[in-house]
Amino acid sequence: MAIRIVREDGDEILRKKSREVEVVDDKIRQILDDMVDTLHNYNGVGLAGPQIGLLKRLVVIDLYDDKGPIKLVNPKIIKQKGEQKVEEGCLSFPNQFAKIIRPLEVTIEALNENGKKIKLKGEGLLAQAISHELDHLDGILFVDKIIPGTLQYVEPDDEKNK
Ligand code: ZN
Repeated sequence: MAIRIVREDGDEILRKKSREVEVVDDKIRQILDDMVDTLHNYNGVGLAGPQIGLLKRLVVIDLYDDKGPIKLVNPKIIKQKGEQKVEEGCLSFPNQFAKIIRPLEVTIEALNENGKKIKLKGEGLLAQAISHELDHLDGILFVDKIIPGTLQYVEPDDEKNK
C-alpha cells in the first residue's frame, strides 16, 4: 500500500493514450491498491493510470457508498444515454471546477482485479465519474469539455476534488 504522486496540469503524460493491460497479475493488483490509497488520500472520487504516471488502462472510482472502491482494468463504454449538466473537478487540476455535460447513464465492460470480465452500469454521479476517468485513458481532460465561462478557481479550504 502506498500513496503515489498525482501528476498535475502541464505534465504531458496526461495527454497520452494509455495501453491495454494484458495480464491482470499481482503487480496490477498492487497498482490498483495504490491507486485506491492515493484516491482516498486526496478525498477524490476517481483516479486513472496516467494521473499517477502510468500509461495503463486502469481506473479506480469510489463514491464512498456501499459499492466500495471500484477497480477497473481496460474499461470500455459500450452504451451511454442522456445528458446531465454537472460541476466537475479533477485531482490533476487542484482547486479548479467547471460546469460540463456528461452522459446521464453509462454502461461499461471491464476486467476486475481478478481478471474477470464484468459489466457495470452507472447513473448520475457514477456515470459522470466513469466518463471522466475513461477520458483520462485517452488523454482527454475535463478542461477540454467545459462549458465556456464556467471555470472557477476555489480556495484550497473549500476543496472538493475529484
Ligand atoms: Zn481527472
